[in-house]
Amino acid sequence: MPIVTERDAQERLRSLVQQCKTRLGIDRMPSYEGPNHPLALLLNIEIREQQGVLHGGNYIPGELPYITIDPYVSSPERLNFTFFHEVTHHLLRGDGELYGFLDDHAPTKFGRVLEDYCNIGAAEFLIPYADVKAIFRSKGFSMGLLPELDASYPASRPAIAIQMAQCAQHQCVVIICEQKMLSQQDGTLIPGGFVADQNPSLVATYSSSSPSFQYRSGINVRIPPDHIISSVYTQKTCLRGKAAIPVHSGRQWIVDCDAIYYVGKVYAAFNVTSPPSLDQPAFNFLD
Ligand SMILES: [Zn+2]
Repeated sequence: MPIVTERDAQERLRSLVQQCKTRLGIDRMPSYEGPNHPLALLLNIEIREQQGVLHGGNYIPGELPYITIDPYVSSPERLNFTFFHEVTHHLLRGDGELYGFLDDHAPTKFGRVLEDYCNIGAAEFLIPYADVKAIFRSKGFSMGLLPELDASYPASRPAIAIQMAQCAQHQCVVIICEQKMLSQQDGTLIPGGFVADQNPSLVATYSSSSPSFQYRSGINVRIPPDHIISSVYTQKTCLRGKAAIPVHSGRQWIVDCDAIYYVGKVYAAFNVTSPPSLDQPAFNFLD
């Protein structure tokens, strides 16, 4: 099927991931298993383990493409997510039509769009779209479902949160926030120029917009202390309320926020439109 819209592009990416999984016979909870990972053999890419790789992993295209990965990163879930993110870089490179579409139609900078798609691909490896869709159909959309999904899919919480955004029918952006020391390497631009942190601050480290929401929010955005996400983090609780979507420009776009604290991080959905209620037949549409 030709790629005409972003939804087509996302659909193509999901099918590329599914093809890999089918060919490898992997279904539930694949994980990084070292440089001889069967995916590397299938895709003919080399995996080089290396300590201190920027952002935990990197994909180097070329005649002999390879992935560098830091196996000593903080958590296995991060390692898993990074590995499948880098594999998705390779899948995107290998599909000229999809890669070209993203280059031509990137709503923001191409590099950022590419990273978003690699996160979507990683999420698809780790938690299938169809499973999350089915859960939303029976329970509706809420960030409160994340711990339940995590119990069934312990591979990666960022993957679950990103897949939740991808499966949302309404316009929303899902953001993951954690304490982090921002450095020059994060390339963060804030009004007035870059200021490196002296102490860790609460920062948005992943963000993913639902397919019907055309805007993207930034990563490495500091969360203001008076923001609902900061309250959720310090109180280790869950809260709902009106709050501004965290963006680098500081622009105030205030929408309904549904945020939970879970295992050291805050997972927040900014609902620009309301999630379909279970009484509405919204899920009867083909998707
Ligand atoms: Zn990347």
